[in-house]
Amino acid sequence: MFKKAILLISILIVILGFMSGMVSSYPLEVVDYRDAPSEISSISVITSKATPQFPEALVFEVQAGSDVPIVDVRLHFSVECDSFVKVVTEEKLNFTSSTKVSASYVWDMRYTGSLPTGTIVDYWWTITDSTGGKLTTEHQKVYFSDTRYSWKSMQQDKITLYWYSGSDAFAQRLLNTAIQGLSDLEASTGASLSRQVSIYVYSNTSDMLGAMLFAQEWTGGVAFTSYSTIIIGINDFNIAWGERALVHELTHMVNYQMTSNPYNHIPVWLDEGLAMYAEGPLESSFKEILVSALASDKLFSVRSMSSPFSTDSNLARQEYAQSYSIVDFLISQYGSTKMTALLAAFRQGSTYDDAMQAVYGFDMDGLYQAWLAFAEQKYITLSQAG
Ligand SMILES: [Zn+2]
Repeated sequence: MFKKAILLISILIVILGFMSGMVSSYPLEVVDYRDAPSEISSISVITSKATPQFPEALVFEVQAGSDVPIVDVRLHFSVECDSFVKVVTEEKLNFTSSTKVSASYVWDMRYTGSLPTGTIVDYWWTITDSTGGKLTTEHQKVYFSDTRYSWKSMQQDKITLYWYSGSDAFAQRLLNTAIQGLSDLEASTGASLSRQVSIYVYSNTSDMLGAMLFAQEWTGGVAFTSYSTIIIGINDFNIAWGERALVHELTHMVNYQMTSNPYNHIPVWLDEGLAMYAEGPLESSFKEILVSALASDKLFSVRSMSSPFSTDSNLARQEYAQSYSIVDFLISQYGSTKMTALLAAFRQGSTYDDAMQAVYGFDMDGLYQAWLAFAEQKYITLSQAG
């Protein structure tokens, strides 16, 4: 509307100028208008797509045309996950300027780290031509999915379970275990899921490792907490282990959803201790490690177990066993309400000592002393008496 008005005024000036004998001063007015950058570009997108090459890469491709040469093509993408800061990546693409161009970008995840299966990536383009005309496309979504298998799915409450091997009864059993595990966890800690979780059940560990770029060989299951996705390798032969592992990983998901904040994570002993506690009674192999560590007085402090566990698997197993016992102590002696309050304090971003002090009246060193008396009574004195 505004431009039309300018054009009209320009023509009027030309006509008036012509009438008053000043025509040579004004004829460029109309031409000037035609050369000015136009917001209404003639750029059009011919094709736009993103193709997953799971789990290594995501390939983005675009073809576009315009009446005048296209000089700039940019890809923008962001990954859908829980985050306190939305990250949008912008990539300037290489191509030969022309009125019809093709450009592509390979997001090589071997350098950036991969995404779990099922993750949605949102992407769009901005394309500029030689007159400054610019087109920003609509956003498109692509599922970065593990298409090596034909997934079936089953859903209940906040859980969607995906599997490709084994009967419906096998999947139903795992789904029931997940639902029951969440219900038991809520009874003992007050903690529950707030968002949907996807569980991908691979038929064995080696299939599962094929979905990851940087997996450790001993990885049994992984909770990608900010993506609300769990991957795990379970079949009929390891199902007893699988059910415990599934509840363990789900508990990490609940812990994350209950406490995530921009400032810090919950201490590792609490995260792993709750996950071990939710699995059920401590397995005998862990119990033996705990008893022997208590008897020989070679224990990790609560403070040291707030950081990632040892890379030495024997020492790490002791840390898991101790963490279980500390959570067992807190829940059995102080109840679920205090545990709910502790998780709420961590959600506020409290320091570890402040959160413990506010809820239980002791800091991490005080917790260690109180737990030690409890554990010695439970595992040493009682076993000697019995
Ligand atoms: Zn764990």
